Amino acid sequence: MPTYRIAIVGAGPAGYFSAQALQNSQDENRVFAIDLFERLPTPWGLVRSGVAPDHPKIKTVAKVFEKIASDPNFRLFGNVELGRDISIDQLKENYDSVILATGSSVGRKLGIPGEELAGSLSAADFVPWYNGHPDYVNVSVPLNGKNAIVIGAGNVAMDCGRMLALDPAELDTTDTADHALSALHESAIRNVVIVGRRGPEHAAFTSPEIRELPKLENTDVIISEAEIEAAKIRVAGELEENKELRNNLEALLEVSQSESKNQERKLAINFLLTPLEIIGTEKVAAIRFARNEVINDKVSATTEIIDMPCDLVISAIGYQALPIPGVEIANGKVVNENGFVADNLYVVGWAKRGPSGVIGTNKSDSSEVIKLLIEKLPSTAKENPDISKAFTNHKIITQSGWQKINQAEVEQGEPVGKPRRKVTDWKDLLSLGQE
Ligand code: NAP
Repeated sequence: MPTYRIAIVGAGPAGYFSAQALQNSQDENRVFAIDLFERLPTPWGLVRSGVAPDHPKIKTVAKVFEKIASDPNFRLFGNVELGRDISIDQLKENYDSVILATGSSVGRKLGIPGEELAGSLSAADFVPWYNGHPDYVNVSVPLNGKNAIVIGAGNVAMDCGRMLALDPAELDTTDTADHALSALHESAIRNVVIVGRRGPEHAAFTSPEIRELPKLENTDVIISEAEIEAAKIRVAGELEENKELRNNLEALLEVSQSESKNQERKLAINFLLTPLEIIGTEKVAAIRFARNEVINDKVSATTEIIDMPCDLVISAIGYQALPIPGVEIANGKVVNENGFVADNLYVVGWAKRGPSGVIGTNKSDSSEVIKLLIEKLPSTAKENPDISKAFTNHKIITQSGWQKINQAEVEQGEPVGKPRRKVTDWKDLLSLGQE
């Protein structure tokens, strides 16, 4: 019975779900030996450094990842960077198939004047900062002003807006990184506005995320009821058939009607505003927007210009794949056909389809790619030496090394009522994860 050796690069949801799909496809004709390569000393990708700390339920999927990793034919190679420690060609040569699950970690740019001013940053920097990603610990997040604006009407914008607007005491029992939690406790931000360039009917938020907003204990959420009603009228003909749209608009309407709690902390969602310029001399002072209107489902600018004062701007307008040496990238994604790249190389997850979908989307997406990979597998497996010999002089974080880090973090969290206290320093992670 042939044992096929498969390399997966990137230990996020798409990587783990690919491993799971391979494990579930084993039978009397084939076995898969899976090596999962990860640049960081810690796995789990966005489940560790993307999902908001106040959404612990979403993170329980990590138990599935750990079950996948417990298979005797699975190995983790943490602290291995593609292009630095190993090349695509080396992987292609040593493995029967190689799967890129490298995600998209580069924040898209607004491309407007003032974007580089101090106090303007991307969600791609802010989110890993509060989640304790070791490369983002030193991101400068000025929280000394009163007003913050988050650009974008998707779930990442919602996460960023919520994290800035909630009472940080609500994060005390979460795994928010220590440095971010202290900074948020000191934060002077009291008015947070999430701004979408199109109408409420076009927003990319999902309804559960909208509905949870009024549960913020010490924050008032402000949405214009008239703006949602106007959107409902514009899309009245679509509401019966389009359940997602109906749910979203109903959720927005409900929130718009929720009673004010007279809190000092405010989180507003505004629509139909396109950012034209971030205004400021040394640092962000305001954003200039063009007011838009919707006519026959087309969004266009009116002549109205609005300046909104702000001290911090977070743009949450999507992501692009990081360049990978030896791999062609176009439109922010790895060039592929249904996950097939070339030869024995495949791609899954955000690197394949762009930054869309929730964590679970990667399960079906990875399964489809694995089906294709299996169809294309040759009838005999390669006979190549074990790649781990290539790393004799390199610190690898194995599965048991990662379990040491994991256990240390969980033990640190227990006495203070947190699920874990994240270790955020590369050196500490590497020394904790040594065998
Ligand atoms: P997204 O859902 O694609 O939203 C991006 C937003 O940015 C859209 O509102 C888009 O508006 C806006 N935008 C794009 N370019 C812009 C520009 N130049 N100026 C102003 N606005 C601009 O992306 P995301 O929020 O990054 O989320 C990525 C994926 O992760 C999504 O599938 C999301 O649901 C998922 N996610 C899920 C959760 C959760 O389940 N709780 C949490 C976080 C993320 P237009 O529509 O007008 O282009």
